[in-house]
Amino acid sequence: MVQKRSRSWRRVKVRTPSGAVAIRYRKPKPNPPRCAKCGAELHGIPRVRPPELHRIAYSEKTVNRPYGGNLCPNCLETAIKEKVRLVVLSEGMRTDLRRRSRKARKKARRKRQRKKEEAAEKEAEETPPSNASKA
Ligand SMILES: [Zn+2]
Repeated sequence: MVQKRSRSWRRVKVRTPSGAVAIRYRKPKPNPPRCAKCGAELHGIPRVRPPELHRIAYSEKTVNRPYGGNLCPNCLETAIKEKVRLVVLSEGMRTDLRRRSRKARKKARRKRQRKKEEAAEKEAEETPPSNASKA
């Protein structure tokens, strides 16, 4: 059999039945599988040619998670978050999703407290005369 000889193909040394060492050429490895969204290399998926893919088990060819083998974990996370946000926003639960920073929460708490104090003051201003009239 005539072998294709190419410098870009992988060369494998093989011992023939006569005992001589011959060089056999193997096709180059395909490019690694990439994320469909960002193009990052996907881990956990073998970098082999299609016939080899046909031979190995399904569990060895994929990552056991939704969109495993198609999206990278980062893109999957953002995709899930976007989807959840869409659903939640459509249900009108906007405030739950608004992640407040620690500072913002503190500020909001202070504002609430101030409001409460103001209301208490107002009440205090209004109530003493009535108490005095009762007493
Ligand atoms: Zn990605």
